[in-house]
Amino acid sequence: MSLQVNAIIFDLDNCLLDPRELGEAFVEPVFSAIRASNLGTLNETQLLAAFEDLWQRPFDTVADEHGFSATMRAAGCRAYATLEVTAKLHGYGDLVVLNELKAVKFLVSSGYRRLQRSKIEALGFKELFAEIHIDAIGEANRPGKEGLFAQIARRWRFAPRQVMIVGDNGESEIAAGNRLKMPTVQLLRPRVTQVLNADFHIDDLWQLKVLLD
Ligand SMILES: [Mg+2]
Repeated sequence: MSLQVNAIIFDLDNCLLDPRELGEAFVEPVFSAIRASNLGTLNETQLLAAFEDLWQRPFDTVADEHGFSATMRAAGCRAYATLEVTAKLHGYGDLVVLNELKAVKFLVSSGYRRLQRSKIEALGFKELFAEIHIDAIGEANRPGKEGLFAQIARRWRFAPRQVMIVGDNGESEIAAGNRLKMPTVQLLRPRVTQVLNADFHIDDLWQLKVLLD
């Protein structure tokens, strides 16, 4: 496949930012709130598996797949909604490559709006992106990643094949990009499991630059 990429839409968590950089203490209020409202719904092993999954995937997906009760879901949501990063974040060590990519760059991230916004602010790299969008959990009329990708292509008059999707999650941004016929790239950061539905796989952003050159 010959690539003619004019735009790249990046995911944030586990793609440009390792959420673990926030630290265990930062998310402890969320874990505590879920634990306090568990009331025997999940056993300890199931609870720990859910917490582990929360480092990789958005809260609503994790709550669905691990069978959180309505009470746990509400408590987790309340706790998440108050989280905000105030310290500086660095992101993965290869973010410097973003400056070298000629394509127009976009950032589309799912999560709680306040938290996602604060993480982006803390990374200090907003000016690298032409547009930044948050697919916000808990807000009405969510366009979802697919809707946001399609809107960007339409507004900027890019054909789908000119818009590359770079992310870690096969069920989220990779699947959305595939449905829109946009080339998809899975960035295999540590702890990310390779999926089969991406067009390309890379280990870091340096390899993305090679792929585009
Ligand atoms: Mg991600």
